[in-house]
Amino acid sequence: MSGYRENDMYDAMENKFLPMYSIASGVGVKVLPDLYCYTNQIVNICLVGDSADDFVLIDTGMPESSGRIIEAIEERFGADSKPKAIILTHGHFDHVGAVVDLVEKWDVKVYAHEKELPFLTGKQSYPDPDGTVEGGLVAKMSPMFPTDPVDLGSHVEALPSDGTVPHMPEWRWVHTPGHAPGQIALFREEDRALIAADTFVTVKQESLYKVMTQELEINGPPRYLTTDWNAAWESVKKLQELNPSVAVTGHGVPVEGQELTEGLARLVSDFDKIAIPDYGRYVDGEH
Ligand SMILES: [Zn+2]
Ligand SMILES: [Zn+2]
Repeated sequence: MSGYRENDMYDAMENKFLPMYSIASGVGVKVLPDLYCYTNQIVNICLVGDSADDFVLIDTGMPESSGRIIEAIEERFGADSKPKAIILTHGHFDHVGAVVDLVEKWDVKVYAHEKELPFLTGKQSYPDPDGTVEGGLVAKMSPMFPTDPVDLGSHVEALPSDGTVPHMPEWRWVHTPGHAPGQIALFREEDRALIAADTFVTVKQESLYKVMTQELEINGPPRYLTTDWNAAWESVKKLQELNPSVAVTGHGVPVEGQELTEGLARLVSDFDKIAIPDYGRYVDGEH
C-alpha cells in the first residue's frame, strides 16, 4: 500500500497528480451482473451495462488517470471498447479527473445535471475546500485540491429533465444537492440498485487512515467540499426513501442489504451528529 508522503505533496502541486491511495485502488468489483465498480486511488467509477457495445461510464476518477481507467475498461470489456456516453454525478476534481482526456479519445457525449454545467464548461469554480473543517488529514490536505472548472464545451449536455438517463433505459437520475449544487444519484427501480455519488459514502473520507483502509462506515458526504448541509441532509432522506438494496458510493466499498438499510436509517436520523462537522467554514451552527 502506498500512502501519503510529504514530498509527493510538492510533486502533486506541480503536476496535478494527487498521491492518495486506498487498499482498493486498482480493484474492480462486479456488484451486479451489469454494474461494475472500479476504484481509482480513492474514488469509484462505475460501468453500467454488460456488453462491450452497450455500456455507460459513470464518473472519470482522479486527475491524470485516463490510462488506468481505459485499462480497467479493457479488462472488463476487451480491447478498444468505449462507452456510449459518460455520466458525471457532479463536477468535483476527483470525479472529473480524466474526463477531458477520455472525451478526446472516444468522442462521446457527457451528461450532467444542468446546475453542474457551469463547473464543467469553465464558467464557474467551486468554493475552496475547507481545510479547517473538523475531520482528519484528508480534510487538512483539501485546500490543495483543484477547484478550477474543467471545460468540456459542447461535449457536455444537461440530463433530460424528465429523469431519464441517456443509454440507461432502466435507470433514472435523482437530484441530490448539498455536496454540490447539481449532484445526482442514479437509481434502478427493478432491483433497487443505487449509485449514490457523494450524497452519502461508505468511508470516513476526511480521515486518511480510513480512506487507506476503506473500513466500511456509512457516512455523510465528504466534509471539506460540502457547502450546504441542510440540502445534503434532505438529499440523504430522498435516497433512503427509495429503499435501495445495494449501493455504490463515490468513495468506499459497495454496501447492500441490512447493513445499507440500517446505516442509512442511522445517518438520516443522526445526520447532525454523524455527518455535519462540529466546526468548519460551511457550518452555520443552526442544525
Ligand atoms: Zn464530491
Ligand atoms: Zn468525491
